Amino acid sequence: ALAMHQVHHAFDQHTVVKGVDLTVAPGEVVCLLGPSGCGKTTLLRIAAGLETLQEGSVSLQDEQIAAPGLRHIPPEKRNVGLAFQDSALFPHLSVLENVTFGLKHLSTSNRRARAEELLSQLGMAAYASSYPHMLSGGQQQRVALARALAPEPQLMLLDEPFSSLDARLRDRIRDDTLHVLKKVGAATLLVTHDPEEAMFMADRIALMRDGCIVQTGTPRELYCSPKDPFVVTFFGEVN
Ligand code: ATP
Repeated sequence: ALAMHQVHHAFDQHTVVKGVDLTVAPGEVVCLLGPSGCGKTTLLRIAAGLETLQEGSVSLQDEQIAAPGLRHIPPEKRNVGLAFQDSALFPHLSVLENVTFGLKHLSTSNRRARAEELLSQLGMAAYASSYPHMLSGGQQQRVALARALAPEPQLMLLDEPFSSLDARLRDRIRDDTLHVLKKVGAATLLVTHDPEEAMFMADRIALMRDGCIVQTGTPRELYCSPKDPFVVTFFGEVN
């Protein structure tokens, strides 16, 4: 499980994360939802180890992975899968090689089998030998998801992972991704500004505004028992 406790973060004098408590259990999908600029990506980057923790604590499976001034486990040692909006694929590697990249501990045939299975689950089996520049943005995003999921990490951190997909594909890929996440049993923190996406993907939603979490709960709890007018406004557009 991921546990973040009393996390604060500032860029220069500007505080953008203001005392956030957040936990994600194994196999659980928590959507970090909120308007642009509220601090979602910063919080995800802190969980990943891409930002140094300034205040608070972060632990993974009860082990402290970050403590201000004391401890900073780098991203590659955190057993996390990352798929960010701009996560670039390795341009000189094929789609299949991109996905097998993090699987050095497996035999060649097992690596290939795992990658092919994921690519097929995400509708990309036909592109295994293509190179990233030959793919559309949405296709690249799906390969990036497969690459992040392949090592079956304990923690998956996804930042707007479906943003480049057209509406027609999006529902299917969300569904397929959810299926893979549940199968892997990863604790997943997914950043989105789209309430509809959060309603669809989340076991729990953490709604953020201006660096703070306003309410955490199941989609139903937020929709039916909003704690704050902001929650109502934010879900106003969802039917
Ligand atoms: P979006 O949905 O638009 O990506 P967000 O909720 O993910 O927004 P963040 O990207 O976490 O928000 O940004 C929170 C605030 O911190 C913003 O005001 C942003 O301008 C600022 N910020 C983010 N990264 C940096 C940085 N490296 N240096 C200075 N300010 C930053």
